[in-house]
Amino acid sequence: MWQCPKCNEQLEDQFFACWKCDTAQDGSTVVSEQQFKAVESGGPMDEEMAEVYEEIQSNFPAHTVLADLSKMVAWLLALLGLAGAGYGLWLSSLIGGFAVLVVAKSLLGGAIGCLLFLAIAEALRMLGSIEENTRMTTALLEKRRKR
Ligand SMILES: [Zn+2]
Repeated sequence: MWQCPKCNEQLEDQFFACWKCDTAQDGSTVVSEQQFKAVESGGPMDEEMAEVYEEIQSNFPAHTVLADLSKMVAWLLALLGLAGAGYGLWLSSLIGGFAVLVVAKSLLGGAIGCLLFLAIAEALRMLGSIEENTRMTTALLEKRRKR
């Protein structure tokens, strides 16, 4: 057990910070989820957070880039599917009903590929924001410890 230095709440050892007032054992303030949400939604953040946020954004853009890339691939596949369907329609006007299969396959393939890469993009974006939060917490704590 340990006692919160700020509000004197009794806390179990496995807790890193006080659940009531976000104060860590050493008395430093832990950045709360609400503060992160405020930052993510473009809300107010203090100078220190803005600084750390910028640092992290410039150091770890990989997830964002990959997510954008996946999204581009998704739309490309959708376009390819439509193009394939168009080709199939043109083909069916030449050789008849058999080419309808090409149309169906193209539309289905395009749609599945598009959805798949959209899902990948979303997962990457989520991974990125989770990692960002973790890094931000670490960076902020480090900064406060140095003071
Ligand atoms: Zn407390």
